Amino acid sequence: MSIKKKIILIFSASFAIVAIFGLSAIYDFFEARRDIAFLKISDSIRSKTLQIRRHEKNFFLYGDFTEVEKIKRYFKDIDGLISRGKKISRNDLNLLKLDSRIKEYRSRFLEIVEIAGVTKEEVVALRAMSRKYEFFIPIMESTFLEHPEQIEMLVRKFYHAGDERNLLNHLGEINRKVKKLRGIGEEIIDISREIDRSARDRVEYVIKASGVGILVVFPFAFLAGFIALFFVTQNIVKRLNELMVTIEKTGEGFFSPLPFPSGKDEVSTLIRTYNNMAATLKERELQLIKKEEELIRHKKLAAIGTLASGVAHELNNPLNNIHLSAQILAREVKGRSEGIIIETVEDILSQTMRVKKIVGDLLEFAREKKPEKTRTNLPDLITRVYDQLSKVYPSGGVEFSLQSPPEVYLFIDPVQMERVFLNLFTNALDAMQNEGELVVVISEDDDVVRVDVSDTGPGIPEEALEKVFDPFFTTKDRGTGLGLSIVYNIINNHYGRIKITSTSEGTTFTIYLPRDI
Ligand code: ADP
Repeated sequence: MSIKKKIILIFSASFAIVAIFGLSAIYDFFEARRDIAFLKISDSIRSKTLQIRRHEKNFFLYGDFTEVEKIKRYFKDIDGLISRGKKISRNDLNLLKLDSRIKEYRSRFLEIVEIAGVTKEEVVALRAMSRKYEFFIPIMESTFLEHPEQIEMLVRKFYHAGDERNLLNHLGEINRKVKKLRGIGEEIIDISREIDRSARDRVEYVIKASGVGILVVFPFAFLAGFIALFFVTQNIVKRLNELMVTIEKTGEGFFSPLPFPSGKDEVSTLIRTYNNMAATLKERELQLIKKEEELIRHKKLAAIGTLASGVAHELNNPLNNIHLSAQILAREVKGRSEGIIIETVEDILSQTMRVKKIVGDLLEFAREKKPEKTRTNLPDLITRVYDQLSKVYPSGGVEFSLQSPPEVYLFIDPVQMERVFLNLFTNALDAMQNEGELVVVISEDDDVVRVDVSDTGPGIPEEALEKVFDPFFTTKDRGTGLGLSIVYNIINNHYGRIKITSTSEGTTFTIYLPRDI
């Protein structure tokens, strides 16, 4: 992933966390406002229910009907509060439960009030039934609601006329209903307490959650963002530093590639580009070193050539004279002299021939003759060279073969090119010592003609491989060490290239000749 994308991602992630938190904080704020409003309502409901219970108690205790009006007012207030509470928290189960319980309480209370009114009149009516217990009437009047059972007992005890039956029924009814009402009253107090408690809990939770958000989520989001950013930049800076150090080294000529980065960010691309550049530079330097070596070899060859040419020219005339004189001497002594004289003269003649060959090679090597190119069929030239060589060289059991298209025409100097193959074939035959295979393969493409000359000789030792093209390097007793130097010069003058591959199973000289020479 690119650095730009990474940074954008980190910022987006941090921003998203902060935004989510911000939104949830705004939501919490509204929630808190709502919960506080609900808390106010639940608080009022609780105190109003307590008031109802208080007035209910007064009503039952003193039979004071003015309390009823007060209780009704509270019912009305609670109704208003519940409908406001429902608007805020529509699905609050406790509120719904409270609503239904208050309704039940109210209807039961009003029923009791109604029965109490009738019962009060029935108690007053007792006065007419018996004057004897008249003094009880006011006590009964004020306590029948609080102690209906006891009043029922007294009425049963003192009155037997039969008209008090309704009163007794009503007292029993009041007793049951008041008990039930009190149970519901308790329940209402419990529910309103529960509503109040859960509203308080909710407010506390929202406040706590906001606190956690402010103290934990915010700093965590920022910290996480900064840490991620720190690691990304650290990683970039580290790799850039490594790159800087390596580039400095490259400037000093040490081409060391950096570990290949697997990433796809800008720094990785930079390192990859640098590595490619370092590899190209290294290759260029190797090419330069090779070119330099070639140049040195050229200069060396040129210097040796000048020297050789001077020496060879100086030697050539006296040598010719010695050779001529030796020939005359050999003719004169033939049949006239002792065996030792004839042998000595023949030895002089053969040694002179050998020196003449060396001088000839030297002149050939030193000759700065430009190739005189003519259109030549290469396979014909090669066959001709081997045919001529095999006439003078006792090749014995060596098998020669040429694998080539019948016609491979090139613009070359045929005399020089004959010399090339003559030298290569002579070396191969020398190496194989009368036994083996000499194979020439010609292949071509649009630009280059390639000739492989392979033998099955013992090969060239590794340490000698570099030197075989050097003038005067030879491993042979009667070698001049100039054969391959001459080959090298000729191929070079044809803008070609020659290389050797050699193993203990044989040697191959590969020549590349450009087509458009
Ligand atoms: P010369 O043949 O006079 O020694 P060259 O320059 O032709 O000089 O060869 C140099 C040396 O290279 C040889 O002495 C020989 O050791 C080695 N050489 C050349 N061609 C071959 C070959 N085909 N197999 C093994 N050694 C070879």
